[in-house]
Amino acid sequence: MMRAILLWSALPGGSRHHFGSEIDVSDAAHTPNGYEVDLTPAECDGMFKEFHDWITEESEHDRLFGFKRVFIPGRGKVQPEKWHLSHIPTAREIQKNFSEQHIRKLFEESDIACKSAILDCLPQLLEDYVYPYFI
Ligand SMILES: [Zn+2]
Repeated sequence: MMRAILLWSALPGGSRHHFGSEIDVSDAAHTPNGYEVDLTPAECDGMFKEFHDWITEESEHDRLFGFKRVFIPGRGKVQPEKWHLSHIPTAREIQKNFSEQHIRKLFEESDIACKSAILDCLPQLLEDYVYPYFI
């Protein structure tokens, strides 16, 4: 079950959003009045397709001012997230300070559910859900 959750939700302490270098984007110009954006693949391939195609094109030409998609198919075990952009130069600085030892200590000091299961497989969880996105 833990791995199913990690397909869509970050390992506590491992969320790139906590780096301060990440944003989730959608297209307000194509959002119907009253609609609440869910950030789903269906939205990316539906009402926001033109916007995400534009992001793809700009990224391929390195015209996103240092931002790139990190959750892409074939990289790690997190499901692809077209809406998630990372400011790579900033993320790289934060990544330098990320360590298994530090996150292990945070888990050891917490009362999180499944704590022993997380600690038992922490190196593999980081290899599958965190480190592949350190680009
Ligand atoms: Zn995100």
